Amino acid sequence: MNTLTAVSDFLRRNGAREVLVLTDRNVDALYPQYLSPLAETWSCHKIVVSAGESSKSIEQATAIWEEMLDRQYDREVVVLNFGGGMICDLGGFVAATYKRGVRYVNLPTTLLAMIDAAVGGKTAVNHHYTKNCIGVFRQPDFIAPADTQFLDTLPHPELLSGFGEMLKYALISSHTFFQELEQLDRLTPGVVRKNWIDACVRFKESRVSADFEDRGARRVLNFGHTYGHAYESWCAAQGDPVPHGVAVAVGMVIECRLSAQAGILPQEELERIEQLVRRHFVMPDWNEALRNRLLPYLAQDKKVCNGAVTTIPLRHIGLIGQPRMLSLNDGMTLSSMK
Ligand code: NAD
Ligand code: ZN
Repeated sequence: MNTLTAVSDFLRRNGAREVLVLTDRNVDALYPQYLSPLAETWSCHKIVVSAGESSKSIEQATAIWEEMLDRQYDREVVVLNFGGGMICDLGGFVAATYKRGVRYVNLPTTLLAMIDAAVGGKTAVNHHYTKNCIGVFRQPDFIAPADTQFLDTLPHPELLSGFGEMLKYALISSHTFFQELEQLDRLTPGVVRKNWIDACVRFKESRVSADFEDRGARRVLNFGHTYGHAYESWCAAQGDPVPHGVAVAVGMVIECRLSAQAGILPQEELERIEQLVRRHFVMPDWNEALRNRLLPYLAQDKKVCNGAVTTIPLRHIGLIGQPRMLSLNDGMTLSSMK
């Protein structure tokens, strides 16, 4: 079903009257008319925030709450998040807290949001340089089916970021999916198949329904994220930030090398994974100096306890293993990394 038709159906079925659209300046400039048909039936008001992570703040959330109060929205208002993961997280948080919670819909416009951020009900803002530290769990009332036409305007690094997370889903859930991704020579918006997006969403939803508050089964979704986050933080501190999914791709390769070193992942599968990653991503050169620089960032990970970090090894492409503890030093003993 067409994305907008699906949203209209949801609003009609739920007797909505007022819709608050939240979007960012880039999306608003690129798709000014996309939601116009909704205004023929519903009373729509739009709030446009600056693009980028700095809008995911308590100050921005406060400004939106105030505008909602000024407009005298009651609990029947529906918040429609139209944008990437930043908008989904911010709008979800505002909706989850305004008058103890109003309904919200995610209509994702980035690949990362389509397969990840729009799904699963984690909402949050950042505070004092700590990401996602203020937030609540609240499922969106509706997730609009992905409209892949949005990918055509996505800057390549953002497409790559979504692809990094997509590769994660393939590695942890399906060898066939991985084989399909393996056949891609070049990543362009046109090669991203709708059924891949749907497969990621289905997998994430299955884990979320088993473990909504992220205390067990959902954690496999963090594959590649321990080292990925450390790399992401280090790059940002160097003044050379990389998109999240790109850091996750690097993190997954590290995780896979560790799995292979421990004899958990067959060497030939590691080679296939590295080959795929190197075709699309720039892998940093691993050496002693870089390894030592990453350690402090790894030590800040919330999964660190008594100098050991919990990581999730890969057993085979498409099959995740049991989480294991690695001492920070052992975990970073990556002498075979070149
Ligand atoms: P984003 O929302 O900041 O979007 C990236 C950039 O793309 C922005 O500049 C945006 O304006 C622009 N953009 C959006 N759609 C576009 C389009 N169709 N064409 C051109 N440009 C477009 O970032 P993101 O990568 O979508 O998401 C990252 C955010 O999502 C982070 O804040 C992260 O913490 C969060 N996240 C949340 C979850 C979750 O489960 N809640 C999961 C993963 C990521
Ligand atoms: Zn991620």
